[in-house]
Amino acid sequence: MKRLVLASSNAGKLRELRSLLAPLGLDLVAQGDLGLPDAPEPHPTFLENALAKARHASALCGLPALGEDSGLCVDALGGAPGVASARYAGEPRSDARNNARLLEALADVDERRARFCACAVLVRHPLDPRPMVAEGVWEGEILRAPRGGGGFGYDPLFLDPDLGASAAELRPEQKNGRSHRGRALAAMLECLFGTR
Ligand code: IMP
Repeated sequence: MKRLVLASSNAGKLRELRSLLAPLGLDLVAQGDLGLPDAPEPHPTFLENALAKARHASALCGLPALGEDSGLCVDALGGAPGVASARYAGEPRSDARNNARLLEALADVDERRARFCACAVLVRHPLDPRPMVAEGVWEGEILRAPRGGGGFGYDPLFLDPDLGASAAELRPEQKNGRSHRGRALAAMLECLFGTR
C-alpha cells in the first residue's frame, strides 16, 4: 500500500496527520485534492464517524483511506461537545465561535477537566471486513482564557497540566508527541508495521 487518501478537509488536522505519517514514505493525498466531498458524520461515536469517513473516501476514489474523527469531551458538560466539536457553535463552522461558546458554558464552573479523543480507522478498500482501528486520548483542563497562537480548534483553551502549557503553545512536533491524534496514529503504525 503506497498511496493513501486522508479522509478529512480540516486543514489543521491534515497538517498534523501528514507530519505524523511523513516518515513512512507513503503518497498521502487529501480527499479535497481528489475533488472528494466530506462524508456525512451523523453518528454518536468517534469510531463510527471515522469509519464512515474512511469508507466514503475509499468508495469514491478506489484507494485505501484513513479516516479520523476527534473532538473535545468536557466532564462538566457531560462529555460535550464530543462528536459535535467542529459544529459546537453551529454552522458555518468557526473555531473562534466554538471557543467562545465553550468559555461561556464553563463561565461559573470550577471543575474543568477535559480530554481530546481521536479515533483513526484505516480501510484497505470500501468493503474491507477488517478495518484497522486505533484510539488516542489526551487528558487536560479547560483554561479561562485563550493562550498561544499555534494549532487549531480548541488548542488555545486546552491546558496540558504536565507541561503547564496550552496545546496552542506547543511546537507542532511537541503537540504530536502528546496529542490524542499522535497517540492514535502511533498505535495504528504499531499495528501496521510493528514500529512507532
Ligand atoms: P471532525 O473533523 O468532525 O473530527 O472535528 C474535529 C473537531 O474537534 C475540530 O474541528 C476541533 O474543533 C476539535 N479538535 C479535534 N482535534 C483537535 C485538536 O488537536 N486541537 C483542537 N481542536 C481539536
